[in-house]
Amino acid sequence: MLAADRVETRLPDLKPALTEDQARAEAARCLFCHDAPCVAACPTAIDIPMFIRQIHSGNPVGAARTIFEANPLGHSCARVCPVEVLCVGECVYNAKGEPPIMIGRLQRHATDNVVHAGIQLFEAGASTGRAIACVGGGPASLACAHELVRLGHRAVIFEKGAWPGGLNTDGVAPYKMHAEESLAEVAWLSEIGIEWRLGVEAGRDVPWADLERDFDAVFLGAGLGADSALGIEGEDLPGVWGATALIEAIKTGRQVDPATVYSAVVIGGGNTAIDAARELRLLGVPDVRLVYRRGPESMSAYAHEREHATAEGVDFTWRAVPVAFEGNGRLTGVRLTTVDRACNPVGEPFRVPADLVAVAVGQGRLESLLSGIPGGIAQERGRVKVDPATGRTSNPKYWAGGDLANGGAEVVNAAAEGKRAAGGIHEWLTRNGGSR
Ligand code: SF4
Repeated sequence: MLAADRVETRLPDLKPALTEDQARAEAARCLFCHDAPCVAACPTAIDIPMFIRQIHSGNPVGAARTIFEANPLGHSCARVCPVEVLCVGECVYNAKGEPPIMIGRLQRHATDNVVHAGIQLFEAGASTGRAIACVGGGPASLACAHELVRLGHRAVIFEKGAWPGGLNTDGVAPYKMHAEESLAEVAWLSEIGIEWRLGVEAGRDVPWADLERDFDAVFLGAGLGADSALGIEGEDLPGVWGATALIEAIKTGRQVDPATVYSAVVIGGGNTAIDAARELRLLGVPDVRLVYRRGPESMSAYAHEREHATAEGVDFTWRAVPVAFEGNGRLTGVRLTTVDRACNPVGEPFRVPADLVAVAVGQGRLESLLSGIPGGIAQERGRVKVDPATGRTSNPKYWAGGDLANGGAEVVNAAAEGKRAAGGIHEWLTRNGGSR
């Protein structure tokens, strides 16, 4: 399915696999802490000391089972989790001034051992005769569907795009994980009986009323919408991209030729902005500049990601906003103005050259998708409102999780929320006798 020469293949794997000897040696350093803080820091509460002990004792398949029991997306999370601010950031070795355990790389070692070897650890539960539609083909729906199938329910994922896997396939930074790794995980998870309807958009290609008729429950895991626009002059010039659209193009295609780009400007202060800037720089673009309306202390991007970007040669322009994109049929530059703390322009606008711009100022909240659901779905601050214990929405037929409900978080959060919703649906169907 994937083009062999898509742009992302030129990017290196920045955290390559450990050898067996390296993994065993690193596992031997773990103190197997009681009440381990690394576990408390994991949104899916993986028993980290347990799986590290299993690696240490030469049982990577057992380690993988420990991981996947807690987190069905454990294979991709091993690569894409921001471990520096989660498990690794809480490892007790930090307080001792020594390098923390490389938990993510050990997790990768364990999960690679089963996913790449085609070893299946799970199976579908005895059929309950119940069916659930999962809307969106990303991590939240995958985790939900996998858990549901294990519990004996039929799970069908409706994905409007051509790829399964959601952002894991077309949105995560390729220096963390290439698209084929996401597809390998999807295939492995789906082996137990998850059904897919690719290229089918819920609410458009299949009416919500049909889903409600044909399924006992609906899980919404459709993520966020398209890149938000700035609404300034020149935004329609060729070369001006929404950041997630640019990253998708890099990951799954070859529309972007980094060799033709000398100067790139990324607008925004979040992790998507940092990802886009790092990708462009690592692809060899000589001049990459990130422009943010506030100072570094206000960026929502992780500090360690900003430090990596700085080390790789990304320049930063603080307290500035674009006022126009310039060019005549082709982007040539960005007109910026400096701003004060309230983001009011100060001083004279100035120009920086640009052959490519990535606008990373947020994504839409899929209002149009939700508005078509019979009876509606309650929202709060642009997110689907859910019961924190079950993931159930205000509409009794619908559950939700992932970015659509949390506003945009990590893959591991989506996995946790998808699994939680599966538990909520299962309880409703079995204990409370949910009916169509
Ligand atoms: Fe091992 Fe560090 Fe977790 Fe302790 S905190 S169990 S040393 S990984």
